[in-house]
Amino acid sequence: MHEIVVNLHMHTRYSDGGGLHRDIARAALRTGLDAVIVTDHNVLVRGLEGYYEEAGRRVLLLIGEEIHDQSRKPQKNHVLVLGSADEMAPAPGDPQLLISRARNAGGLTFLAHPNESAATLFGEPDISWVDWQVRDFTGLEIWNALSELKDVVPTRWHALLHAYIPALVAHGPRPATLNLWDELLAAGRRVAAVGGSDAHASRLHMGPMSRVIFPYDFHFRGVNNHLLLPSPLSGELAADRRLIYEALGHGRGFVGYDLPASTRGFRFSAHGRDQRALMGDEIRAAGTITLQGRLPAAAEIRLLRDGELLKRWASQQAFTFAGRDPGAYRVEAYRPYLGQRRGWIFSNPIYVK
Ligand SMILES: [Zn+2]
Ligand SMILES: [Zn+2]
Repeated sequence: MHEIVVNLHMHTRYSDGGGLHRDIARAALRTGLDAVIVTDHNVLVRGLEGYYEEAGRRVLLLIGEEIHDQSRKPQKNHVLVLGSADEMAPAPGDPQLLISRARNAGGLTFLAHPNESAATLFGEPDISWVDWQVRDFTGLEIWNALSELKDVVPTRWHALLHAYIPALVAHGPRPATLNLWDELLAAGRRVAAVGGSDAHASRLHMGPMSRVIFPYDFHFRGVNNHLLLPSPLSGELAADRRLIYEALGHGRGFVGYDLPASTRGFRFSAHGRDQRALMGDEIRAAGTITLQGRLPAAAEIRLLRDGELLKRWASQQAFTFAGRDPGAYRVEAYRPYLGQRRGWIFSNPIYVK
């Protein structure tokens, strides 16, 4: 398996972002990403996908879109549509129709910032997902780095502090979002997880001061998707695009917060008598299943099945656990950073059936 690092969910001047696709590609090259997926609001920008190169290095830039029904107030139900051949905007009023359309066009659908709060200070409403009767979506954006900002800026002073020291922001996915995910998993659904930066690289003006807050580079060092591919990226757009979307759709990987320390190298697998499963896979519940994991460094590890905590290790770099029960098993890891406990690694589930 070949591990690659992909940052996704970001905006350019084609919607409400501050930069252009080439700025994103340059930031991705500077930060050492393998790929980025740009998702402007309600527009599928065409003709800019491909490899960008600089000084002998390359990064793959892919383009999806973030869609919502713009006639709805407030504008709930944002969906990230990735890999679709067709433009999905304007979004229909019924989010199920959008999910089905995207699926028919070969697209993956991730519910964006499914649970978040309002930032009343900036007049930003809560734009959570509300229509939970929808089915057949690919997964959830369990961690949205921008949405999290809404939780940490009760005053303008906090806003300024975080604009200057953005590393203070990220703590982890919202517990309510993880609960929503676990409820779906416990109901027997397959739900893949992604982390989104929701990078906008917007310019903030306060009196004489003007500053790009949360630039693309900053986000690209933060909440990333680590995907495990059957072969390395070849440099050929169509083939590499397919590899990345297959891994995202299958949940073959994990969400890693790379700013405190690189999460590269995390692995989680399940082993039966004559079967083996990686993240995103199913394995038959026949006899004892050994779940095992290893991390790039020691951390607090939590192993969950359908949301229930099976075991916690206070500080460990590897673990094994013998289980028999069917369910969706997933791993979380936390470590301290800048004086606080931060989410570090969130695996996709292994489904024991
Ligand atoms: Zn959104
Ligand atoms: Zn967004």
